[in-house]
Amino acid sequence: MMADSPDHQTGLMDRWLDARAADRQKQHLERHRRVVIGNHPVEILSNESPLLNFSSNDYLGLASHPDLVRSLKDAADCHGVGSGASALVTGYRREHQLLEQELAEFLQREKVLLCSSGYLANLAVTTSLAGKGDVIIQDKLCHASLIDAARLSDAELSRYGHVDMAALKRRLASANQGNTLVVSDGVFSMDGDTAPLKEMAALSMEHKAWLVVDDAHGIGVSGPRGRGSVAAAGLSSEEVPVLTGTLGKAFGCFGAFVAGSEKLIDHLVNEARSYIYTTAMPPALAASARAALRRVIEDDWRRDHLKALIRHFRGGAKRRGLALMASDSPIQPMVIGDSRVTLELAAFLQQKGYLVVAMRPPTVRKGTSRLRITLSAGHRAEQLDGLLDAIALATGHA
Ligand SMILES: *Cc1c(COP(=O)(O)O)cnc(C)c1O
Repeated sequence: MMADSPDHQTGLMDRWLDARAADRQKQHLERHRRVVIGNHPVEILSNESPLLNFSSNDYLGLASHPDLVRSLKDAADCHGVGSGASALVTGYRREHQLLEQELAEFLQREKVLLCSSGYLANLAVTTSLAGKGDVIIQDKLCHASLIDAARLSDAELSRYGHVDMAALKRRLASANQGNTLVVSDGVFSMDGDTAPLKEMAALSMEHKAWLVVDDAHGIGVSGPRGRGSVAAAGLSSEEVPVLTGTLGKAFGCFGAFVAGSEKLIDHLVNEARSYIYTTAMPPALAASARAALRRVIEDDWRRDHLKALIRHFRGGAKRRGLALMASDSPIQPMVIGDSRVTLELAAFLQQKGYLVVAMRPPTVRKGTSRLRITLSAGHRAEQLDGLLDAIALATGHA
């Protein structure tokens, strides 16, 4: 009787959950959310203390831009809030269609498909292009959403060492006769470096594999007019037939997209389960993303300022003897190694007024816990100096 009582069931689950929590605690891998308040790109409030945010992906400082806010409000007045259904039922609105057309023109691709998030966009692409008998070749440091997408696809997943082109070549040479997808982040989210896209494109073409680039951190930030890492590398839509990106980072919005040929997008509309079986993005968000796209295209000064900040930050770190990973993106990680030490360092910085989140396993490899510092066009150079001084003080480099 006892074994079947609801109390007993709860007890069992609680015990299991407690054991898991204790495990995390022991390894300094427990995670907590913080409530963040504010509508400024970098000056925020958390636990009532003012902090400078060095852990957001709002690279161009657009998330609180008045144009985006106004578009969202105006469109909500017109269209309401929820889209009310999935895109294939009745959730697809004029604002979605216009945003898709404008993004396609911006990215110089035939067509774009709006998705509700980058995670879902990557699932859509991977699971509808590869299945049983196919091979997905990924860089070891690909984003979690790409790994999960490959697992869900039933294709064979083959991972190569980070940016190791010789290894990619070997994997391509041994791939069988099904579809072969070569999948990579454009800019790696935890290391900040850029994939060798030109070589990857050449190898993929040579072996008749399809190159899929997830440029979540590149679009808006790098390349002419912010077209991203693929445009920066001068690659065409033939060389990179599938491009995914998010509207949640440099665009300061929410949602994501896949860009490619008309045939590709039609295929996804028909077969991508993560597109078909989820509610379409609120139309007002699409309107807001259209305003963001105009700022991305027109405001070269945001990218110029961000580039100057990256140079300033790297120069300042070098002068203080602080080692950063090799990165020319706004992601500037400092590897500490031990999770506990990284957490302590982050706590110290928070006391000094700087919010830098400690990245620990499984987000990064074991033994490579790090401060993942991200820069934004909303920062000022002297704020970067302040952060570097605080890190130098904490690590004995002052
Ligand atoms: C953030 C990120 C995603 C997920 O995008 P969302 O729109 O936040 O779901 C996908 N890929 C990479 C490389 C990312 O950094």
